[in-house]
Amino acid sequence: SPTPLTLLGLGAMGTTLARTWLAAGHPLTVWNRTPARAEPLVAHGARTAPTAAEAVAANELVVLCLLDDASVEEALADADLTGKDLVDLTTGTPARARARAAWARERGARFLDGGIMAVPPMIGAPESGGYVFYSGSPAAFDAHRQTLTVPAGARYVGEDPGFAALQDVALLSAMTGMFAGLSHAFALVRKEDIDLLEFAPLLAEWLVAMAPAAQTTAGELTSGDYTTGVVSNLAMMVAGNTTLLRTAEEQGVSSELLLPFMDLMERRLKDGHGDESTTGVIELLHR
Ligand code: NDP
Repeated sequence: SPTPLTLLGLGAMGTTLARTWLAAGHPLTVWNRTPARAEPLVAHGARTAPTAAEAVAANELVVLCLLDDASVEEALADADLTGKDLVDLTTGTPARARARAAWARERGARFLDGGIMAVPPMIGAPESGGYVFYSGSPAAFDAHRQTLTVPAGARYVGEDPGFAALQDVALLSAMTGMFAGLSHAFALVRKEDIDLLEFAPLLAEWLVAMAPAAQTTAGELTSGDYTTGVVSNLAMMVAGNTTLLRTAEEQGVSSELLLPFMDLMERRLKDGHGDESTTGVIELLHR
């Protein structure tokens, strides 16, 4: 029968997670700082606890989905964690996750950190491709794999409790670059007589066509040879940057989103790596 569990935090994400566990028949105890947010879930069979400590006491498996690490600290302050399996889905840094794991171990709990690669509409919708990175106690993951797979796919990425957060943030950082690129592209075309709704799928298809660069880059970093995947070398790309920057100027668009990466490409070229791909830029990023 479905494992009973406790969930602390009923924000946008927590509430969506709760609904999927209830729908799958898991007995669920919930707690939220603002109790009113639990009411709609009680109608769907959730139990509420008056304090976080009592919610924690109700079940062995305790999932947290709170705003930040400070709210986790506050919520668990009075809870007895002996024998608990804590799964913290609150977004944080790798160092925070490692510190929280050590803190949980000292209190007698097994710990998993999670990084949610989904927005609420992707939760409980397997076809959306959303999933959660988990790292930390392998025994806790094995024990709860089935329950953790109810809201979204579960990808266990290692015993180091920081690895889920690290890979989560790496993907979000790449996404930030993508949003920068999208913003610049739309700024270039939006003042013209171009149908943005027709332009959008071209942009999306282009990004998808370029995405295999992730695999090429990984291969080059692994081999140490940055010339293998070269279809466009750095010398050619840096020359092409001139056209990108001139077009921005012609269109009256700031090039501030492009310049940081272009500057790195130029530095790498000046260091004598014109025959390589852009992978060598990564060498310049390490402090
Ligand atoms: P919300 O802002 O909707 O909810 C925040 C939750 O944290 C609420 O339950 C809130 O309680 C609680 N909270 C805030 N401060 C405290 C505190 N000091 N003590 C106790 N509880 C506190 O956030 P989300 O649900 O969207 O996000 C929750 C986590 O999930 C975050 O770490 C977020 O990064 C992560 N996440 C969210 C995604 C999303 O798209 N929403 C995507 C991926 C990850 P109260 O109701 O009382 O304010």
